[in-house]
This record gives sequence, structure tokens and C-alpha cells, in this order.
Amino acid sequence: MTDQSALPERVAIVGAGVIGAAWAARWLLRGVDVAVTDPSATAPKVVAHVVDNARHAWTRMGIEPEREGALTFVDSIDAAVRDADIVQENVPEILELKKIILGQIEDSVDAATLIASSTSGLKPSVLQADLRHPERLVVGHPFNPVYLLPMVEVVGGESTSSESISRAMALYDAAGMHPLHVRVEIDAFIADRLLEAVWREALWLVSDGVATTEEIDDVIRFGFGLRWSQMGLFENYRIAGGEGGMAHFISQFGPTLSWPWSKLTDTPELTDALTQRIGEQSDAQSGHHTIDELERIRDDNLVDILLALEANQWGAGQTVSKLRS
Ligand code: NAD
Repeated sequence: MTDQSALPERVAIVGAGVIGAAWAARWLLRGVDVAVTDPSATAPKVVAHVVDNARHAWTRMGIEPEREGALTFVDSIDAAVRDADIVQENVPEILELKKIILGQIEDSVDAATLIASSTSGLKPSVLQADLRHPERLVVGHPFNPVYLLPMVEVVGGESTSSESISRAMALYDAAGMHPLHVRVEIDAFIADRLLEAVWREALWLVSDGVATTEEIDDVIRFGFGLRWSQMGLFENYRIAGGEGGMAHFISQFGPTLSWPWSKLTDTPELTDALTQRIGEQSDAQSGHHTIDELERIRDDNLVDILLALEANQWGAGQTVSKLRS
């Protein structure tokens, strides 16, 4: 069960594209008032669409909020963040833009307001370098769709206070998430370090003509992807090692690491030809679905996987039970 008393009264969302809109949806469904600002004329439509998707997903999960929070759109950062308990910044991944926006946020909040950035990989020490109160800046790196996936990586910079980390952990827990404190600050944190390695290999496989986008996705979704959603890498490999466990697994497969099977330190050049090949293969694979349809299929599948995990009280399923409080 989450600590309801830790729920904030008001959250500010700065930048409401894919991620900002989904943060707004999660907080609204938790009954928290949300103020959003985004200069794009289409932002209100994007948020409405994502909130609709989130409602559909939570209903399918059997979670009906007693009361949804109130959503307000405002046309300035100042108006959005002024009374917020936590400000979540979700503008494009451009360092200079983020630093300007974080400075503007800081100008409008008191020194105690927690400021979180959704950055996928920029170090908080760099983001907070020009702030007057850098101690309240954390990274809260979520996963798309934020209203369904519970993981959020919480990362502090050199100047972040331990109190800010604790507050962020408590707030995200109250949002029904599974916050993980990334204790050592590195570029791209934990998840995107892993994902980039897989992504780079996938690009090589397409570039070398070894496999199409669909064949690579099939290897994941019919194979290890199913395992990964309920046990991670190490727990699965422990089983793969049999009674000998990890030690046996490492002695059996350790030597293959130096053969080498992968090209991890190299990146294929993203030429126009490679980009076109990936685009054409992706169209052939998924072009018969609209993005809206793919989102709905993804969400329905994720909900049913989460429900199955909840029935077994395992992994991410345990966060669903927390939301039923
Ligand atoms: P996006 O392009 O979908 O959305 C960015 C939004 O910021 C747009 O709506 C844009 O209008 C708005 N914006 C631009 N300038 C602004 C300003 N001055 N004030 C307020 N809003 C402004 O991008 P996204 O995918 O939502 O990514 C946002 C952040 O979240 C990035 O830092 C990204 O690395 C991170 N992130 C993305 C994902 C993902 O899967 N897309 C996952 C985790 C984290």
C-alpha cells in the first residue's frame, strides 16, 4: 500500500509531449491536481488523448480513482509552477534548453520546491550547475507509458541533498511507482545504458543485412522479452546456470564474451540509406496499424501482464496492488 499522506497537493508539468502528458495522467488518476504548461498549440489535445488512454488502462486494471485531480493548462512556467509541491520538467533532450527552463522554474518557486527532470541521460550535476538552489534538483527518469510502467530512476547530482532524494522517492512511491535510487551518477543512468547497448546491436543487425526490424522484434517478444518482464537478467541467468547457479553460468558463457559476439563499442553510421531501410522495414512490419492503435494494443497487453504478475504477487504486479488502496 502506498503512503497516501505523501501525495502532493499540486504537481506542475513543464513540457507536455509524450512523457509530460503521461506524467500528468498518472498524477491526475492518483487524485492530484496538475498544472501544465507547453507552448505547443497541440499540447492540450495531446494531454487529453494520453489521459484518455490512461483512464482506459486503469479501468482495465480494475482501478477506479475515487476522484481525479483537476487539470489546468496555463500559458507560462511561472503560473504552472508557483504553487506546486513538485515540478516535473519534460522539455526536449537539449541541454541548453533544459538549463534555461530549469532556471525559469527556479525563479518562480520557493527554495523548498522539489524540481525533477525527466531527462533520459543528462547528468543532474550538469543540469543543476547554474541553479541558486541546486540541492533540490533531482532526475526522475520515467518509462513510457508513465501511467503504467512503475519504474522511475531517481538520480541526484553532486549538489543534490539527501532530503531531496528522500522526498522524490516518497512522492513517486505515492504515485504508485517503484522508484529506484541510482546511487552513482553516470550518463544515461542504468536503464538507458542497457537499452542503448541492445539498440546499437539491433542497428548493426539491420545495417549488416542479418535481420529485419520485424525479425529482431520477434526474437525479443517471442523469446527473452517475455522473461525480462518478470525476472531481470541476473535472476534468469541464475536459473540458466542450473543447480550451479551464477558461478556455473559465468564459467560456461564467460569465454564467449571475448570471442566477441557483439560490436558494442562501435556504432553503425546512420546513413540516409540505413535510415530509409529501417523506415521501410518498420512500415512493412507495423504500418497497417496507426500509432493510436499501437498505443492501445501496447497498453492492453501491459495491463494484462501486470494483472498476471499481480496475481502472483511478483515484480511489477506488486505496484498494482499498491494502487488499490
Ligand atoms: P516530446 O518532444 O514529445 O515533448 C517535449 C515537449 O516539450 C513538447 O510538447 C514541446 O512543445 C515542449 N516544450 C518545448 N519547449 C518548451 C518550453 N520552453 N516550455 C515548456 N514546454 C516546452 O519529448 P518527450 O519524448 O516527451 O521527452 C521529454 C523528456 O523526457 C526528454 O528529456 C526525454 O529525454 C525524456 N524521456 C523521454 C522518454 C520517451 O520514451 N519519449 C522516456 C523517458 C524520458
